[in-house]
Amino acid sequence: LFVAFEGGDGAGKSTQSRLLGAALEAIGREVVLTREPGGTELGAQIRQVLLHGDHVAPRAEALLFAADRAHHVATVVRPALERRAVVLTDRYMDSSIAYQGVARALSHDDVRDISRWAVEDLLPELTVLLDVTAAEGRARRGGVHDRLEREDDAFHEAVRQGYRQLAERDPARYLVLDAGRDPMDLHRAVCRALAGRSPD
Ligand code: C5P
Repeated sequence: LFVAFEGGDGAGKSTQSRLLGAALEAIGREVVLTREPGGTELGAQIRQVLLHGDHVAPRAEALLFAADRAHHVATVVRPALERRAVVLTDRYMDSSIAYQGVARALSHDDVRDISRWAVEDLLPELTVLLDVTAAEGRARRGGVHDRLEREDDAFHEAVRQGYRQLAERDPARYLVLDAGRDPMDLHRAVCRALAGRSPD
């Protein structure tokens, strides 16, 4: 089972990923909690460049996220899925489509194609989209921590719309939840969405 948590900064992705991980471990599953960018040693270096480097040209930025993802999938995600572990990732290719494709206007389809090539078409069975408005996200993350969070509300609103379009195009693969709800309430909704799916 491969589940991705997506949403703007401050949406609560890592909290939901941890809650689901704990629930699955409690029923005896091996769980791999991971994230992008930075889920591997190489990825941590790419993350450093992306978040704390000086200006990175938009296309270079898109390729660095794709490089991080390619290495993450090849060395962490696929091996874990092959031994039947559950993989829960905090961000996956929808982040690239929403941030670089839509908000940076590089083209949704180009960024999707690069991402798919990078991961040899590995898609999650379920993508949980924690929908957060730009203003809510800003309030929840409490300040600017990296270069990419310096973007204004219009950028974050474009990210949000990018995510929502993705979910609308492929509703079977998405669970869209209002990130402002109580975290335990959200967790129960995620568990319900998984209950009907294959345990692998
Ligand atoms: O989610 P996390 O805080 O690890 O993401 C790091 C930063 O990278 C955030 O500021 C996020 O907005 C940004 N990001 C991005 N494009 C992506 C993924 C993350 O700009 N594809």
